[in-house]
Amino acid sequence: MSTVPPAPEHVALDHPEKGELTVFWTDGSARQYALADLRKACPCATCRDLRDQLSSTGGLTLLANESLDPSVEVIDMSTVGRYALQFTWKDGHNTGIYTYEFLYGEGRDLEAPS
Ligand SMILES: [Zn+2]
Repeated sequence: MSTVPPAPEHVALDHPEKGELTVFWTDGSARQYALADLRKACPCATCRDLRDQLSSTGGLTLLANESLDPSVEVIDMSTVGRYALQFTWKDGHNTGIYTYEFLYGEGRDLEAPS
Protein backbone atom coordinates (compact mmCIF):
# COMPACT_ATOMS: atom_id res chain seq x y z
CA MET A 1 0.00 0.00 0.00
CA SER A 2 1.22 3.44 -0.84
CA THR A 3 1.17 6.06 1.88
CA VAL A 4 0.80 8.83 -0.67
CA PRO A 5 -2.81 9.99 -0.82
CA PRO A 6 -4.46 9.79 -4.22
CA ALA A 7 -4.98 12.95 -6.20
CA PRO A 8 -8.29 14.33 -7.45
CA GLU A 9 -8.91 13.14 -10.97
CA HIS A 10 -11.95 15.33 -11.39
CA VAL A 11 -13.62 17.90 -9.19
CA ALA A 12 -17.29 18.47 -9.85
CA LEU A 13 -19.14 21.62 -8.90
CA ASP A 14 -22.17 20.38 -10.77
CA HIS A 15 -24.73 21.28 -8.15
CA PRO A 16 -23.70 24.59 -6.61
CA GLU A 17 -27.32 25.23 -5.66
CA LYS A 18 -27.13 22.24 -3.35
CA GLY A 19 -23.92 23.54 -1.83
CA GLU A 20 -22.07 20.35 -2.61
CA LEU A 21 -18.82 19.47 -4.25
CA THR A 22 -17.78 16.03 -5.45
CA VAL A 23 -14.18 14.92 -5.83
CA PHE A 24 -13.36 11.86 -7.92
CA TRP A 25 -10.03 10.42 -6.82
CA THR A 26 -7.43 8.57 -8.84
CA ASP A 27 -8.03 5.45 -6.74
CA GLY A 28 -11.55 5.28 -8.17
CA SER A 29 -13.39 6.55 -5.11
CA ALA A 30 -15.63 9.60 -4.99
CA ARG A 31 -16.27 11.82 -2.01
CA GLN A 32 -18.85 14.49 -1.50
CA TYR A 33 -18.33 17.64 0.54
CA ALA A 34 -20.68 20.26 1.88
CA LEU A 35 -19.31 23.63 0.82
CA ALA A 36 -20.31 25.10 4.17
CA ASP A 37 -18.17 22.47 5.92
CA LEU A 38 -15.20 23.21 3.69
CA ARG A 39 -15.56 26.92 4.29
CA LYS A 40 -15.72 26.39 8.04
CA ALA A 41 -12.65 24.16 7.87
CA CYS A 42 -10.68 26.74 5.88
CA PRO A 43 -7.05 26.09 6.82
CA CYS A 44 -5.69 29.60 6.25
CA ALA A 45 -4.11 31.48 9.16
CA THR A 46 -6.91 34.05 9.31
CA CYS A 47 -9.65 31.47 9.68
CA ARG A 48 -7.59 29.41 12.12
CA ASP A 49 -7.17 32.45 14.35
CA LEU A 50 -10.85 33.22 14.06
CA ARG A 51 -11.77 29.68 15.08
CA ASP A 52 -9.39 29.86 18.02
CA GLN A 53 -11.02 33.06 19.19
CA LEU A 54 -14.50 31.66 18.74
CA SER A 55 -13.73 28.43 20.57
CA SER A 56 -12.36 30.37 23.54
CA THR A 57 -15.49 32.51 23.73
CA GLY A 58 -18.10 29.82 23.17
CA GLY A 59 -18.30 30.38 19.44
CA LEU A 60 -20.18 27.24 18.48
CA THR A 61 -23.34 29.28 18.02
CA LEU A 62 -21.54 31.69 15.74
CA LEU A 63 -20.21 28.84 13.63
CA ALA A 64 -23.69 27.37 13.40
CA ASN A 65 -25.02 30.71 12.21
CA GLU A 66 -22.25 30.99 9.68
CA SER A 67 -23.19 27.62 8.21
CA LEU A 68 -26.57 29.08 7.28
CA ASP A 69 -24.94 31.80 5.22
CA PRO A 70 -26.19 31.36 1.64
CA SER A 71 -23.08 33.13 0.32
CA VAL A 72 -21.03 30.02 1.03
CA GLU A 73 -20.41 29.38 -2.61
CA VAL A 74 -17.34 28.55 -4.66
CA ILE A 75 -16.79 30.78 -7.67
CA ASP A 76 -13.36 29.53 -8.69
CA MET A 77 -11.01 26.69 -8.01
CA SER A 78 -7.39 25.96 -8.83
CA THR A 79 -4.75 23.39 -8.02
CA VAL A 80 -1.72 24.20 -5.90
CA GLY A 81 1.34 22.27 -7.02
CA ARG A 82 0.50 18.59 -6.91
CA TYR A 83 -0.78 18.46 -3.41
CA ALA A 84 -3.70 20.80 -2.83
CA LEU A 85 -6.77 22.62 -4.08
CA GLN A 86 -7.49 26.29 -3.57
CA PHE A 87 -11.03 27.64 -3.63
CA THR A 88 -12.19 31.17 -4.24
CA TRP A 89 -15.35 31.81 -2.25
CA LYS A 90 -18.09 34.17 -3.26
CA ASP A 91 -16.98 36.67 -0.62
CA GLY A 92 -13.55 36.82 -2.27
CA HIS A 93 -11.74 34.76 0.36
CA ASN A 94 -9.17 32.52 -1.33
CA THR A 95 -6.21 32.01 0.97
CA GLY A 96 -7.17 28.55 2.16
CA ILE A 97 -5.09 25.67 0.80
CA TYR A 98 -6.88 22.33 1.10
CA THR A 99 -4.37 19.52 0.82
CA TYR A 100 -5.40 16.32 -0.93
CA GLU A 101 -4.55 14.48 2.26
CA PHE A 102 -7.02 16.62 4.22
CA LEU A 103 -9.74 16.36 1.59
CA TYR A 104 -9.32 12.63 1.21
CA GLY A 105 -9.82 12.22 4.93
CA GLU A 106 -12.97 14.34 4.91
CA GLY A 107 -16.16 14.16 2.95
CA ARG A 108 -18.76 11.49 2.48
CA ASP A 109 -17.74 8.38 0.66
CA LEU A 110 -20.04 7.83 -2.31
CA GLU A 111 -20.85 4.25 -3.11
CA ALA A 112 -20.81 3.56 -6.80
CA PRO A 113 -24.41 3.06 -7.95
CA SER A 114 -25.11 -0.58 -8.63
ZN1 LIG B 1 -9.64 31.17 5.44
